[in-house]
Amino acid sequence: MSLAAILGHERAVRVLRGMVRLDRIASAYLFSGPAQTGKKLAALSFAKAVNCMDDSPSRDDSCDRCLSCHKVDALTHPDMRIITAEEGMIKIEQIREIEDFLSLTPIEWRAKVLIVDDADRLNLAAANAFLKTLEEPPAGSVIILLSAFEESLLDTIRSRCVIINFTPLSLKAGRAVLRSLGRDIGDAHLRLSMGSIGPMLSDEVVSRRNRDFAIFEGLISGQKLTQWKEKEEMGQWFESALVFLRDMLCLKTAPEAVFLINSDKKRQLSDLSKTIDAKTLVEVYEKISGLMNYFIFNINRSIVINYIQAMLESSFTQHPSGAKKNRG
Ligand SMILES: [Zn+2]
Repeated sequence: MSLAAILGHERAVRVLRGMVRLDRIASAYLFSGPAQTGKKLAALSFAKAVNCMDDSPSRDDSCDRCLSCHKVDALTHPDMRIITAEEGMIKIEQIREIEDFLSLTPIEWRAKVLIVDDADRLNLAAANAFLKTLEEPPAGSVIILLSAFEESLLDTIRSRCVIINFTPLSLKAGRAVLRSLGRDIGDAHLRLSMGSIGPMLSDEVVSRRNRDFAIFEGLISGQKLTQWKEKEEMGQWFESALVFLRDMLCLKTAPEAVFLINSDKKRQLSDLSKTIDAKTLVEVYEKISGLMNYFIFNINRSIVINYIQAMLESSFTQHPSGAKKNRG
């Protein structure tokens, strides 16, 4: 795919094409933005544009026809490397290996391209070793870091990169991406994907939301629930709960809101929002998001669910059905 064909990231693409046109390619970039919004695809397209064999003057994109372009598409180019986290981490051995790769003269290309996926997963030793490469990049190398958590990168790494920002795909861009893949999904599914391509292509996002919403309603109405099976499941529920609360706040402030994420649950959320005042709603939101800061620790899930249940029960004044809650 050429840079021009990338959907939903017009500003980033404009900047990158400008650099190709002017032949002002920096030695290091950081593509920063939410997961699965197209950063890796853009990095590959940029690598292709930088090294395309088409010599037309003022070319600002790949031709998608030459041998070099084909090799990037097939991920077989000897002058390109992509590294990703192994067992959740990018380790120093991987950095040593890419130092060797970058120090060699390009075999076929003008520039050697290194793409570091999930660059925030560099462990400290690897990050410090990598910093040396960034400080003195071998001539003719282009390093592209990808990260959904830019703030987790060392400042010293970030400051050496040209930062290109990627935003969640708009609903319109999301639809266009799906069309280009020959896919179509419902409006609710598209909104729940929150601008990331992966969730758009999987039904799991909807079934997970349904499960989380059932738990949410259950906790408010005082049903006794078994705890989340795994820490990950609990984390997902917390993320969903924040979105339910966010949607309720939207419904409170603008009842005709068209920007609901759980648009297919509008009626239920609207009913629930009538049983809580806006101030308490904000407090519940803050408590839930505050609790998430403790998830890095080994937290007792049954204590969490009891706490959340008590908080939700006391914050919402009625059952969703409208019947007064039995507080006896
Ligand atoms: Zn080409």
